[in-house]
Amino acid sequence: MAYLTSDFETLAKTFDLETSGTKASATMIFQLLLLKHGRRNAFAWYDHENCFGGDDWLNCEIQSTIHNGNSIRLEELKEVAESFGFSLIRERKRLKMEFNHEMIKKEVSVDDTIIQNLEDEMDSGGTATIWILKKELVPNIAAFTGANIPRGVLLEYPYCCISNFVNQKTQLLVDCMKEFYLSFPTNTLNRDPTDQDLKAYCFENYHNENVLDYEMRKKAFEKLAEDSRKIFPFISHHACKNCIDDPQSSPSAKLNKTYADFAGQINDNLFNFFNENGIMTNL
Ligand SMILES: [Zn+2]
Repeated sequence: MAYLTSDFETLAKTFDLETSGTKASATMIFQLLLLKHGRRNAFAWYDHENCFGGDDWLNCEIQSTIHNGNSIRLEELKEVAESFGFSLIRERKRLKMEFNHEMIKKEVSVDDTIIQNLEDEMDSGGTATIWILKKELVPNIAAFTGANIPRGVLLEYPYCCISNFVNQKTQLLVDCMKEFYLSFPTNTLNRDPTDQDLKAYCFENYHNENVLDYEMRKKAFEKLAEDSRKIFPFISHHACKNCIDDPQSSPSAKLNKTYADFAGQINDNLFNFFNENGIMTNL
């Protein structure tokens, strides 16, 4: 307990939490403490702004989300992580998309090969992710092939929520496939659609707002993420509907309680800040 308080004070100084702290720096400090004090094994920061791709990535910064807020240099973050006995590494492999094959095949007549082709083509593009994790888990990252499931597992997200995320992406693909069959100009072309047509269409139009129900789906996903933030402000993932509907004893509820209790042990202000604003979710 005494160690926890002094660790927090040291990190608050290192990352200027008192003077120019932000949600990002508060979140980073909280994650470092969760790791050091055995509450988590791994934490990841996805490079949404495409900043960490170059050779000098350690000189890059996790940008503050507010004006004049403090940014965190990766070099400094790496030093702190290593002083706690953890590794900080950058991952930027092309990872394949993962879809729920059964869910697709229930609605559209396609085989696994077509779905696998789409999974391979719609890869992550090699966008960088910064990982802070136990040294012995570093080889797990090199072994990743898929973009969502192995990451979620390593980050200790509940499996129901990982599946829900994959199913959301799958739903967009199902909509896209249905749209393709509805709109394929069989009469004009005087032929039936081929698998190649289907794949080309899905590759082009996945995440296209003109696809049927796209706006409605997006709104529903955003509503779920918003509910998750309100009900479970301490977790790093977006909880699934089942977790949200059982806010006392679902897997996300338990994880949120573990992290919330830990935040309460660190510092009342930190607890209150996260309880009101939620921690930053990024991956
Ligand atoms: Zn869940």
